[in-house]
Order: sequence, then structure tokens, then C-alpha cells
Amino acid sequence: MATLFVSDLHLEDGRPDSSRLFLEFLAGPAREADALYILGDLFEYWIGDDAISPTAAEVAGALSALSQCDVPIHFMHGNRDFLLGERYAEQARMQLLPEQLVVELHGTPTLLLHGDTLCTDDVEYQAFRRQSRDPAWQAAVLNMSVEERLQMARSAREASSEHMATVSMEIMDVNEEAVLKTFQDAGVQRMIHGHTHRPAFHRHRLPDGTEGERVVLSDWYQGGSYLEVSDSGINPVEL
Ligand code: MN
Repeated sequence: MATLFVSDLHLEDGRPDSSRLFLEFLAGPAREADALYILGDLFEYWIGDDAISPTAAEVAGALSALSQCDVPIHFMHGNRDFLLGERYAEQARMQLLPEQLVVELHGTPTLLLHGDTLCTDDVEYQAFRRQSRDPAWQAAVLNMSVEERLQMARSAREASSEHMATVSMEIMDVNEEAVLKTFQDAGVQRMIHGHTHRPAFHRHRLPDGTEGERVVLSDWYQGGSYLEVSDSGINPVEL
């Protein structure tokens, strides 16, 4: 049995191919898993559980069907879908996770996180992150009309692509010190995250002299893929 991981699917009505691929994955390989972890940015944007897109409704149905096949589904928020709440989670029969979690994966304690907290060089984004995780800010946003929230999400995405066009690739990648500190604080030698859209296996020399392994998940902009962790190791699988 294998534990499966995905992140950064960025599903939205405008990208039906990705949604179809994900639905096939949920009805296919995911059925054999001992658990499925979604490590953030399942959706391109999220304006509240009271205003879900047709894509999100379809995905909830497929997730719920998987869960009924005895595959537990765990969801961690990304920087796009951080407003996803209990109501949608219940509909999809998935469990909401805190922003960091250590799980014992086939004998190896492994830290799971979306990965945006590791990108500390991006000061502007980190300021937005602090604001957007504030419960009062979230409540105020969720109180706006659907039209206002859609407008807000549009502006945020425009600002984000502008930001990505002006900020260097290094600034948008993880900060080495933040990575080492995160390993140390969690007391683990392996972490799995997404967010940077740079799938890789990295090795880090940790302050205590041991080696830390950092596995970065792929995004779903071109095709789709998942990470499979089992007793025989870690494998990225292309769909
Ligand atoms: Mn992200």
C-alpha cells in the first residue's frame, strides 16, 4: 500500500483538462492508496464555501466517492485556497490539516507543508500571508458579497502574476535558512511540500550533521502527477 501526495493542481472552470485528469486519478490509482494527502492549491482560487464553482462541486463529489472507498483524504491549505473551510471539507469528506504536520510515513517521520512558509525572501508575499491568515481579515472577506469576493480574487491573481513577473526566480524559491530551521523545529529528516512548482529531491546538510531530504511536488499545469510513498521508497508518478 502506498500513501499518495498531490499539490498545486490549481483547478478552475477554465482548465477542464486538469480537472478531468484529477477525476481520473481519484477514480483510478487513488483507489489503491492507503491515504491521499492534498498539500495545498487544489484550486486556483477560493472565495468561500458558500460560492463554489461547478468544478469544485464536481471535485467534492469525486473526493467523497474516494473517501467512501475507505481512502482517507487529508487537505492542507495553499496560498490560493486558504479560505477553504469545514463546510466544503465535509462535502468532500476530507479532513482539514493544520499548516504543518509530522506524519509517520512507512517508518519515516515526515513533515508535510504547502511550502510557502519556506519562501521567506519574498517579503511582500509573507506580509500578505500574515494578513490573510488573520481570522478577523478572513471573516471580513467572507462577509463581502460574492461579486465583491470574485473581484477581489481576480485582482489578487493579477497582482500575483505581476509580482511573479518582476521578482527573481531565487526570491520565489525556498530560503535555505528557512528550510534548515523548519527541519530543526519539526525534528525530522524528511519533508514533502509543493508551492514552488519545481519538483525535485533535495538533500540538505542539517545543523546536527545529519542529512535532510526535501521532496518537492509537481504542479498540474502540464499534465498531472502524484508522489507515491511506500515501503519500497518514494516515487513520482506521471499521469
Ligand atoms: Mn502555492
